[in-house]
Amino acid sequence: MPRKRSTPVSAPAPQVGPEDVLDTTERGPTVESIAQDVAAAIVEKRIPPGTWLREEALGRVYGVSRTKVRAALLMLAKDKLVETIPDKGTYVCQPSVEEAREVFSARRLIEAEIVRRFVARARPADFEQLRQHIRMERSALKGPALGAVREKLLGDFHVALAEAAGHRILTEILTELVARSSLIAMLYQSSNDAHCSTDEHEQFLRICESGNVSLAVANMMDHLQRLEASLDLGQVRASRQLDLVNALMM
Ligand SMILES: [Zn+2]
Repeated sequence: MPRKRSTPVSAPAPQVGPEDVLDTTERGPTVESIAQDVAAAIVEKRIPPGTWLREEALGRVYGVSRTKVRAALLMLAKDKLVETIPDKGTYVCQPSVEEAREVFSARRLIEAEIVRRFVARARPADFEQLRQHIRMERSALKGPALGAVREKLLGDFHVALAEAAGHRILTEILTELVARSSLIAMLYQSSNDAHCSTDEHEQFLRICESGNVSLAVANMMDHLQRLEASLDLGQVRASRQLDLVNALMM
């Protein structure tokens, strides 16, 4: 597995202890499924920013070795959901105000291109798929205490749009940005709680269907602007450190 190294490339390879070698015969969940599970818990707000992700605790929760846990955490670090601080441990990222603004400006750039591509190539089946997604958003909205699920579905609409636009790399980049947006929303959400809305997604799709590219792009930009405006980026929340096992049980 990749290791954090500060030695020059020409230096001898660091000694790898037996505990660092991933045992491919080890039973239990795969590295990927652990990473997906923890990522979902972070994005769905079950594990707050700043939480220390203890390797031993995760190992106990999933019934796997620390080596496997470490490999899963490495995958999450690539998606900027967690950060490993040398000699301290791995924590759920706490994006700064500056980072938050940058995530939204990056989303505006990328999503403008996604919308242009989507309007140019979308077929009736694509619209139907996205409408299906909106129906899921609506049914999630009906249930009580489903804020996290709702948030995830609303973010997923943007990813689904990128997929329908048929650009794999932009979809990958947007998937990371949407996950980071969710973390940001968790840290900086203001009381009025105005997020992505299903009504706005529906209105956006209608504009796309009319084929008016510039109006569709402008509509998406307004939507993202409102999302960013709903966050209180003037204030930094105190960090909360919850025990991972408790957080996963919430
Ligand atoms: Zn939205």
